[in-house]
Amino acid sequence: MWQIGNVKVSRIVELEMPGLSFVLPDAIPEKLRAIDWLAPYFVSEDWEAIASIQAFIVESKGKRVIVDTCLGNDKKLPIRRWSNRKGPFLEHLASAGFPRQTIDTVLCTHLHMDHIGWNTMQVDGAWVPTFPNAQYLFGRLEWEHWDRTRENWTPTIIEESIQPILDARLHKLVETDHRITDEVWLEPTPGHTPGHVSVRISSNGEQAIITGDLMHHPCQVARPQWNSVADSDPQQACVTRHAFVAQRAEKGELVIGTHFAAPVVGHIVRDGEGFRFRVLT
Ligand SMILES: [Zn+2]
Repeated sequence: MWQIGNVKVSRIVELEMPGLSFVLPDAIPEKLRAIDWLAPYFVSEDWEAIASIQAFIVESKGKRVIVDTCLGNDKKLPIRRWSNRKGPFLEHLASAGFPRQTIDTVLCTHLHMDHIGWNTMQVDGAWVPTFPNAQYLFGRLEWEHWDRTRENWTPTIIEESIQPILDARLHKLVETDHRITDEVWLEPTPGHTPGHVSVRISSNGEQAIITGDLMHHPCQVARPQWNSVADSDPQQACVTRHAFVAQRAEKGELVIGTHFAAPVVGHIVRDGEGFRFRVLT
């Protein structure tokens, strides 16, 4: 758990494993070895990039917000090792002190399959909202993009993880600068997807930002030009990432990496001509 002023952020991990080049083609051992500070936390012993799929629970002003809902169980997904999972995510969430009924806000930084999975769960063969007492915040721009391009996506992703929320009328379409509390709000970081947002936390003079997928791995702090194959607008993603890295180094805010392996959080600092990620341990 991390404390930013009065705001608490907890991490619930669904999956953490080496092997990220299917998303980030440049993240291969030969190239990663040149970034020596990635060891020991962010690469395996043979220098494969390690990534996490995880959710953050943000507690602010009496609200419990889950930021991104990972893969989910029993989902029919096009990536085999992500599909039809039977993991203990909800048990881990409850044992961390957050039974699913106590979550009052769900926020998806964007609508990719590894950020919306636990929006729903399967009960007696039907998909129902996992967080029945929550309002689900979906970006208006993001949802319009998905709705418009449905034919490009695996249909089950919307059917299983989004449509049941719309049917239950638990969703709210929000703008990319939406405020959840006066300590926690969204900031637009487009490129990975059109409506992609990061989550800003500001409390008692302390600042942090949850990245979302504007980057996937700390290697992109040193190499902001490395794009993900999932970036919908690679050029915009690259512009957003360069600006993010430079601004964080200048302002010294805590960075919480959505797909970063433990220890997950740190500061972006200057490193010669470029930048590095200095972990908070
Ligand atoms: Zn992702």
